[in-house]
Amino acid sequence: MRYVGRFAPTPSGPLHFGSLLTAVASYLEARCIEGEWKLRIDDLDAPRVEPGAIDEILRTLECHGLCWDGGIYYQSTATDRYEAAIETLIGQALCFDCTCSRRDLRNHVVYPGTCRHRPARQRDNVAIRIRVPPIEFEFEDRLGGYFAHNLAEDVGDFVIVRRDRIIGYQLAVVVDDDAMGVTDVVRGSDLFDNTPRQLFLIEHLGFSAPQYTHVPVITERSGVKLSKHTLATAIDNRFPAQNLRTVLDLLGQNPPMLATVDALLDWATSYWRLSAVPRGATLETWQSI
Ligand SMILES: [Zn+2]
Repeated sequence: MRYVGRFAPTPSGPLHFGSLLTAVASYLEARCIEGEWKLRIDDLDAPRVEPGAIDEILRTLECHGLCWDGGIYYQSTATDRYEAAIETLIGQALCFDCTCSRRDLRNHVVYPGTCRHRPARQRDNVAIRIRVPPIEFEFEDRLGGYFAHNLAEDVGDFVIVRRDRIIGYQLAVVVDDDAMGVTDVVRGSDLFDNTPRQLFLIEHLGFSAPQYTHVPVITERSGVKLSKHTLATAIDNRFPAQNLRTVLDLLGQNPPMLATVDALLDWATSYWRLSAVPRGATLETWQSI
């Protein structure tokens, strides 16, 4: 069966070790069975896009030997696809206009349903939410195992178009993965509990659901997730082989002392074992990276 994996960084800054780990894991999952590996730039949230970050991300992937198949998919060019998906969902009477401000919702973890009786009219300055049913949405993660969410109780009606008209993350991801023909999603465990919402959208949009594998996110010893805001951890492109070895170590692959990126990637592609990747949502770094 055809395997299509993907890596989808947000260009809000350079890649850090956590995102390199996700890139390497999804690359090896695809390449170990000669599958395709595609690249998407999640640049939908324009205010968060940092000038120069896309070039820097591409340079980091290239110098670590992580070459993608085909052209790069930019979310910012997929507007028509998102609009079509919104029309489909509105056509199923699943959506409504939400005029609640951040302040209105500040004491609620789950959306209280204030506007759910309204129709969806796609107006400016109004968010569009999707009505979720009180049913369990479940999936089997290839690393994390079984997971279920009661969408109404645990999440509530969620946003598919933000007030600023930017397409919501959940909707964009499922539309993009479908457009790219993605069969397998390997991504960080910080996105684990987004999956039932995405499966709900996938079902209503008539897409096929990919398989999911959530790899641990790296934390510093303090337990804080490494992010683009902790600038000290941006990848140093001068030491790609060392970086790759560190990432493979963190992924439990126990790489031999090979000196070049090509040799390491060849070895890792031949001997990749998903079963060796540590279980659990986070991975503390014990070495200084
Ligand atoms: Zn509302």
